[in-house]
Amino acid sequence: MVDLDPLDVEPPFAPASATRIAQMLGRALTLRCPNCGSRGVVAGWLKMAERCPVCGLRIEREGNDYLTGSVMLNIVLAELIFVIVLVAYLLAVWPRVNWDVLQIVAPLAMAAAPFVLFPFSKLVWLAADLSLRPLRRGELPGSATRS
Ligand SMILES: [Zn+2]
Repeated sequence: MVDLDPLDVEPPFAPASATRIAQMLGRALTLRCPNCGSRGVVAGWLKMAERCPVCGLRIEREGNDYLTGSVMLNIVLAELIFVIVLVAYLLAVWPRVNWDVLQIVAPLAMAAAPFVLFPFSKLVWLAADLSLRPLRRGELPGSATRS
C-alpha cells in the first residue's frame, strides 16, 4: 500500500490526471524525464542516469530491482512489434512470402529488439509507475520530508 496521506498531497504529489499520464508517457517515449520533461536521463543507450539532472527524480525509484518490470515490458513490446510487423508483411506479400529471408531476419530482429527498446521500456515503466504511485514528499531532492 502506498503511504499517501490525503491531507499531505499537492501537485506534483497528487494522483495523476489523464492529461498528466499522457504527458508522462509522451516524455518517456521521447526519452525525457517523465516527471519534468528534461533530457539527460539516458546516460547511454543501455545505461540510465541515476537521477534526472533537473528535477532529481531517481530513475530506479525503489532500488536496484525496481526496474525488473521494465524487462517484462521490454519483452512484451518486442514481441508485440514483431507480431504486428510479421502479420503486416505476410498480408502485404501473400502468397509469395520469402521464407528463406524471413527465417534469418526474424530471429535477428527479435534478438535486437530488446536492446533497441531498452531506454524506452525503462522510461515508460517509470511513467506508468509515476501514474499509479505519485511522487511522495521527500522523494525529490529539496522537497519537504515528513517528520
Ligand atoms: Zn526530471
